[in-house]
Amino acid sequence: MSSNKLNVEGIMLFEQPFARVPYENYRKVFRTSQKNIEKELSAVQATSSDLAKRTKGDDGSSADGAMKAIDGMITRVENLKRKLSELQDSAGIPTQSVMRERLEHLAAVENVESANTPEFQRWADVRLDRWLVDWALRNGKEKTARKIAEEKGIERLVDIDLFSDICRIEEALGRKSCTEALAWCSENKSALRRFKNTLEFDLRLQEYIELARARKNMDAMVYARKYLLAWQDTHLAQIHQASALLCFPPTTSCGPYKRLYDPARWANLTQSFRLAIYNLSTLPTEPLLHLAMYAGLASLKLPACYDPETKNVDCPVCDPSLGRLAEEVPFSHHVNSTIVCRLSGKIMDGDNMPLAFPVSGQVYSREALEDMAAKHNGVVTCPRTGETCGYSSLRKVFIS
Ligand SMILES: [Zn+2]
Repeated sequence: MSSNKLNVEGIMLFEQPFARVPYENYRKVFRTSQKNIEKELSAVQATSSDLAKRTKGDDGSSADGAMKAIDGMITRVENLKRKLSELQDSAGIPTQSVMRERLEHLAAVENVESANTPEFQRWADVRLDRWLVDWALRNGKEKTARKIAEEKGIERLVDIDLFSDICRIEEALGRKSCTEALAWCSENKSALRRFKNTLEFDLRLQEYIELARARKNMDAMVYARKYLLAWQDTHLAQIHQASALLCFPPTTSCGPYKRLYDPARWANLTQSFRLAIYNLSTLPTEPLLHLAMYAGLASLKLPACYDPETKNVDCPVCDPSLGRLAEEVPFSHHVNSTIVCRLSGKIMDGDNMPLAFPVSGQVYSREALEDMAAKHNGVVTCPRTGETCGYSSLRKVFIS
C-alpha cells in the first residue's frame, strides 16, 4: 500500500495559482485602500498646517474660515472612512473568504492518508471540476464554466472573474482599443515592473502607431512626448524608430516601418496581454487539465500509438484527440512494460499470455483467442492479416 501514499508535494505543485489569484486580488484591494488613505490624509495635513500658519497672525476675522477648514477636514476623513468600509465590504471581505476557502481546500489534502480513501476521491473530484472550469474558461466557454461551477458549488474555487476580465480586455484589443488594457496595466503597475514586463510600452506604441496611420502627426508627437519618452532608458531605439515613422505613410514598403504599421501587431498585443496576466497570477499558459494529463499520457505513450496499423481502441494515447495532446510528451521509457491485446483490450501478462500466429507473427491475448476458438470449432483467424490456423498451432510469446 505504500505506493498509494499521497504525494502531497506533487499535488501542491499544481496549486500555486489556485492560492495566488485571490492573493493578488487582495493586494489590489490593499493598494487601493492605501492610495485613498494617502490622498485624503495628505490633504488633511495640508489644511491643518495652513491653519496653523493662519492662527499666528490672529485677527479674529479668520475664525470663520478656520471653522470651515476644520469642517472640510472632518468631511474628508468621514468620506475616507465610508470609502474604505465600502471597499472592504465589496472587495476585501469577499476576497478574504475566497482565500480562506481555497486554503481550507488545500489543507484538507494534507490530512488524507492515501489516494485510496474516499476523502481523497472526493477531493480529487472537486479538483477535476476545477480543472474543467479552468479549461472551459481558457477556451472562451464562459457559460459552460459558470454552469459547472454553480452546479458543483465551487464558485469560490475557480477564477471566473479573472477570465471575464481577460475576455473584456481582449475583446477591446480586438476592436483595436488599448484603453482597457492600459487601465489594467495601471492597476498592476508595480507587479508588471517587478516582472520587467513591457506590455504598457507596447500598448502605448500601438496607440502612437494608430495616430501615425491616421496621419495625425502633431497628435502623435504630443503623444510620444507624454507616453513614450518615459521609457527611453530601456526602449530608446524603438522610440527613435517610432519618431521616424511619421515620415513614412502607412503604405510604405520600407521594412521596419511596414512592420510597425502591420495590423498583425494587434494580435501580438492580445497574446502579450494574456501572457502578462497569466504571469502575474502564476497561471500556466496551458490549461491545468492538460498539464495533469501530460503526466499520465507520458506513462502510456508508445510509438505504436501513432501508427494507424497498431492503434488500440482501449489506449487513451491512440485516441486522436488525446494523442494530439500527447504529442508534446516523451515516449514511455518502458516500451514493453504493458502489452495490450487488440482484440479484448486487456493487458497481456503471465496470466493472460500473448500468443502469436505462426506465419504473420501477429500477437493477441490467450483469453481472446480461446474465446474465438471456442466459437469457431478450434479455429482462430487474425483480424488483421486474415491468417487462419488451429488454436493449438499458436506460438507462445514470452514477455521479457
Ligand atoms: Zn496507444
